[in-house]
Amino acid sequence: MAHQSKVPTELVQVTDSVHLAHGHAVNWLLVTDDTGVILIDAGYPGDREQVLSSLRELGYEPRDVRAILLTHAHIDHLGSAIWFASQHGTAVYCHAEEVRHAKREYLEQASVVDVALRIWRPRWAVWGLHVLRSGGLIRDGIPTTQPLTDDVAVALPGQPTAVFTPGHTTGHCSYLVDGVLASGDALVTGHPLLRRSGPQLLPAVFSHSQQDAIRSLDALAQVDAEILAPGHGDLWRGPIREATDAALKLAGAAT
Ligand SMILES: [Zn+2]
Repeated sequence: MAHQSKVPTELVQVTDSVHLAHGHAVNWLLVTDDTGVILIDAGYPGDREQVLSSLRELGYEPRDVRAILLTHAHIDHLGSAIWFASQHGTAVYCHAEEVRHAKREYLEQASVVDVALRIWRPRWAVWGLHVLRSGGLIRDGIPTTQPLTDDVAVALPGQPTAVFTPGHTTGHCSYLVDGVLASGDALVTGHPLLRRSGPQLLPAVFSHSQQDAIRSLDALAQVDAEILAPGHGDLWRGPIREATDAALKLAGAAT
């Protein structure tokens, strides 16, 4: 397996129960209570050591992971969940519309070449190399992925609420947990390929339907939370509607 550089993962405490981990190019969340921990997203395959160290930092072993919730099944979010599911039998959940994608019955992801052809900037080469070295071309799915139901969610640490936000992928889902909106790639605040930071959509080349992604900003705007923990970029604090308005404005400028 490809190994990513040993950049230590930055772990940010967001609330009593929520921590945001920054990998080299993608984030994941740890949600804890006295019954264990769940992960929301799990980095690239090559981020496994960083995922394990983020768990260890909070005193958890892989067997303490009660579930992994995926915002979507792209390799930078699902990557190390493949190992958790196969080696530890960790339960993996996502939105019902994303389950077949997580099983790799189909793949809805831009290739490195697609991205290179559309975004020709020197930084793509750095990012592309990172993707390759992090196991970004691994096509394995997680055959045991299940749809997250309310019954399952209510029994998990943090009792996450699903907010369906299709667009980036057909079954992309955000989660509200302990007042923190885990928006995955439905709304980000930065990315190695982006020039600016702050709330925004990822470039259209990454998304299955940018029109749906724009529509999903409306769903996020309804969420009553003041902390945004995106799949890429820094934590952002403020009313979510302000973040979605900013993203909408930039999306309008881009089309
Ligand atoms: Zn991503």
